[in-house]
Amino acid sequence: MNRPNEPPTSPTRAQPSVLAALVRTVLRIGQGFSVTFRQIFRKDVTKQYPKVIPPLPPRAHVGRHLLNRHQNGLEKCIGCELCAWACPADAIYVQGADNTEENRLSAGERYAEVYQINYLRCIMCGLCVEACPTRALTLTNNYELAFESRQDAIFEKWQLLEPPAPLGTAPGTEEGK
Ligand code: SF4
Ligand code: SF4
Repeated sequence: MNRPNEPPTSPTRAQPSVLAALVRTVLRIGQGFSVTFRQIFRKDVTKQYPKVIPPLPPRAHVGRHLLNRHQNGLEKCIGCELCAWACPADAIYVQGADNTEENRLSAGERYAEVYQINYLRCIMCGLCVEACPTRALTLTNNYELAFESRQDAIFEKWQLLEPPAPLGTAPGTEEGK
């Protein structure tokens, strides 16, 4: 509040200069768009998949599981369910059964009568592989896992016992070319 006899304060002096405000606004807009402008002048990085499939490191384990066999053909899986218990996503279902002299499928006392992996749940963490006491389960480098139904995403034992097809040969890949 002005004292008596003091000249009133000029309203234009109390306000920031219009020019300074304009400069600040333009600077802020420029700052906001800086990422966009930088991207405009960058070289495009377009993956030509599936025409070009970059090679993976030889020991990459990032894809579908494989149930392994011993050299004599017997399954390494003994149906112990440790992989299913270790799985944080509850993606594995195992039902074990006893081997008999007439029907021996694995090298242990038991074998996996049912073995399923649900790839809608699996997060490829590899904990199941770590948990397996017989090294029956490994991750391959085939990451082409696309399905047309929920049922297709559940792999059965007979599928997991087969090595996956080479990358780029999955059904439907041709349409992408
Ligand atoms: S890789 Fe991980 S998420 Fe997938 S089945 Fe194994 S433990 Fe479960
Ligand atoms: S894959 Fe390994 S951990 Fe899983 S049931 Fe078979 S033997 Fe047990």
